[in-house]
Amino acid sequence: MGSDGRQKNHAGELSSYLSLRKIADAHFSYEDSRYVIFGVPFDQTSSFRKGSSLAPDAVRVAYDNLESYDSFYDIDFGEVPICDLGNLYVNEDPGEVVDSVKRVTEIIRSDNKVPIMIGGEHSITGGAIRSFKDCSMIIIDAHSDFRNEYMGSKFNHACITHRALEELGEGKIFSFGTRSISREEYEDKDFGKVKFIRAESILTVGIEKSLEEAKLPKDSKYYFSIDMDGIDPAYAPAVGTPEPYGIKDSDVRTLVRKFSKKTIGFDILEFSPLFDNGNTAVLAAKLIQDFIGSREKKN
Ligand code: MN
Ligand code: MN
Repeated sequence: MGSDGRQKNHAGELSSYLSLRKIADAHFSYEDSRYVIFGVPFDQTSSFRKGSSLAPDAVRVAYDNLESYDSFYDIDFGEVPICDLGNLYVNEDPGEVVDSVKRVTEIIRSDNKVPIMIGGEHSITGGAIRSFKDCSMIIIDAHSDFRNEYMGSKFNHACITHRALEELGEGKIFSFGTRSISREEYEDKDFGKVKFIRAESILTVGIEKSLEEAKLPKDSKYYFSIDMDGIDPAYAPAVGTPEPYGIKDSDVRTLVRKFSKKTIGFDILEFSPLFDNGNTAVLAAKLIQDFIGSREKKN
């Protein structure tokens, strides 16, 4: 109450002290933005180590540590039209969460903006890909994620590549860093419809040569999905299902840079802050900058 007995409007002053956490460089409104960041704090189907529900805010905190200006891209991220919508409301039903993700990405895409989704577990990519049918897909992942169903659900994180194949079709999906495939997946009649580029061959011949051999369509748009466990645990230790002998963080950066201008949707998933030494969070934050920076770079 003010001294005259009337209620004062303190909202303006309070907002100068308090805010919902968002990516530090996200200064634009939804209407004025070109990149729309949102978090999906969902890890309900994680089969080994949970905690990826905490990732969106952990990435935002880590991002605070990065410079806004990047001399390689010659870009100040604070001047790029980025907005951060906060986190999706989630319940425990993976089907409903996937439906919400589909609707949110569909709206963002229909407004000609690029969604950047911070998971959460890999199952949520299934929602995004349902609204991105007319594109190819690049996945970074240690696992083939090619089960048709896992632990009673088709929406499990171990099924995402199978779901994507149903939406996009044969010859459209390229998964880099593969090194864990179950016999059931390997013997699936549709396994060959996805191009899996094994971590071991990338480590042997290098990312450039691997990319050449994979023959990705040149005139296609791409959805880009990074399961952080595709990267070696030395660089990204805090993931739901760690797997040794992964690819280098800089290999992923190379792929992000090469395809960013053709990428119409981007996500980064399976990071579990409960197991981090800080490296995974800042790498996830940096990959978001690399995506936006290389996409915006003039050349
Ligand atoms: Mn995955
Ligand atoms: Mn994985």
